[in-house]
Amino acid sequence: MQSGFTHTIDGRGESGDTSFDVVNPGTGTPFAVCPEASRDQLDRAVAGARRAFESWRETTPAERRERLRGFAEALKARSKEIATLLTREQGKPFARAQDEINRAFANLEGLLALELKPELLRDNERGHVELQYHPLGVVGAITPWNVPVLLALPKITQSLYTGNTIVLKPSPYTPLTTLLIGEIAREHFPPGVVNVVAGGNDLGAWMTEHPGIDKISFTGSVATGKRVMASAASTLKRVTLELGGNDAAIVLDDVDVTAIAPRLFWASFGNSGQICMAIKRLYVHEKVYDAMCEALAGIARRVKVGEGFEEGVLMGPVQNRMQYERVLALIEDTRRENARILCGGEALPRPGYFIAPTIVADIAEGTRLVDEEPFGPVLPVIRFSDVDDVVQRANRTRFGLSGSVWSADPGRARAIAQRLEVGTAWINHHVGVEYDVPFGGTKESGIGREYGIQGLKHYTETRAVSVPILPPVPPMPAMSPAAPIAPAAPSANTPQR
Ligand code: NAD
Repeated sequence: MQSGFTHTIDGRGESGDTSFDVVNPGTGTPFAVCPEASRDQLDRAVAGARRAFESWRETTPAERRERLRGFAEALKARSKEIATLLTREQGKPFARAQDEINRAFANLEGLLALELKPELLRDNERGHVELQYHPLGVVGAITPWNVPVLLALPKITQSLYTGNTIVLKPSPYTPLTTLLIGEIAREHFPPGVVNVVAGGNDLGAWMTEHPGIDKISFTGSVATGKRVMASAASTLKRVTLELGGNDAAIVLDDVDVTAIAPRLFWASFGNSGQICMAIKRLYVHEKVYDAMCEALAGIARRVKVGEGFEEGVLMGPVQNRMQYERVLALIEDTRRENARILCGGEALPRPGYFIAPTIVADIAEGTRLVDEEPFGPVLPVIRFSDVDDVVQRANRTRFGLSGSVWSADPGRARAIAQRLEVGTAWINHHVGVEYDVPFGGTKESGIGREYGIQGLKHYTETRAVSVPILPPVPPMPAMSPAAPIAPAAPSANTPQR
């Protein structure tokens, strides 16, 4: 069993009295022991972050950028170690773990190239008003288990770059890479600027109610996001909620099926379908429906599924037993609905949480697989014939993360994509976060945005600094001891309530 992992609390490594096992989903057995933070440890992490905030907020963006770049260099020097640990705890193929880390670095560097500048709101005869962006204080960041490094690094970057300090909690299923990132951060930031604590759901709930935390940046499921928001309300914390999705992709009748099938496939099955913005409902025009089903099933049958370090493996396991059982239950449900399972449809007969990539045809809304977020390697392919109808069907959901339209005619696709009720609408593409494009959900898929200038703004509070040009004060009447002082007459420039 791997051990020796520590929390990062106020600049020091700490373990504690309790710990829990971390399971390798490729074998289904524990491979490491993770320390579990107590309430006292969380309190000390928050106190350290509050203390550190007083001086960190005074640093300039250029100084913070410099520190973060140094941190990125140190992470890069250990990226193979981080990728190895990521494959062990998350299950994804080693090459994909390296991709995740490289994308996290690219986002970190990209975010640092953005500049959140004060905005001039007015400079005229009424005066000068500037909107400034100030840090909030201590950010509590909470992440899920699907892409732990890709989510942790931008939360650290956005928090610190805008002048905040952070207390970060990874998922108990994948805590180790984030603890390692915290360990590396200790050498690059003053004590208390970056704190990382591992633990279960209770630890997350303590964070959301903690009076010393000013903002919660949460990524996870819709159900937990609602709990986070309710709990954060008790101290009126700011919240960013990046929640689940049930993304629709709409494939029009003019596509080249052979050319786009692999793109559609990986936009759905990448990371074994465990991506918030994966294609989870594939609407295909009836003219190309059969050909598309055949092409997707052909790819699915050829994909090598296995443990992350196996030669030539393209798809890993589902990350944890609970999710594995849920995905298998959703597949079982489609059998009861008389849908057609074109390939896969079952667990692989080996240890670990492996499910063969599963394509389900002749299925529609009103089934669990279409209406819920599966978050696993299974895709419903849904037939449509009318564009207006399919747009309505794509939008008839409480989710609203992202969506896409696929066509040989980008103009036609764009006109349809603009009608999708989502935070991101792609044309002939699906899946991907870019450092300069705000990402987030509409409806129950989230609140707020991360990335881009808009994302940075969500880590700040605005302050309007106003220098009004006022009319001269009217001359005072000669004072006699008995005369009352008359108030100045209101003018156009005097604020009225
Ligand atoms: P989850 O909501 O179960 O857990 C996420 C995190 O919240 C974990 O760290 C967990 O310990 C913590 N947590 C649990 N209960 C809590 C509480 N009451 N208060 C505070 N924290 C609590 O989600 P998951 O199963 O780990 O992740 C899968 C979900 O995440 C999917 O729905 C997926 O779509 C979503 N997701 C969204 C995005 C996005 O950017 N929109 C990205 C990745 C994943």
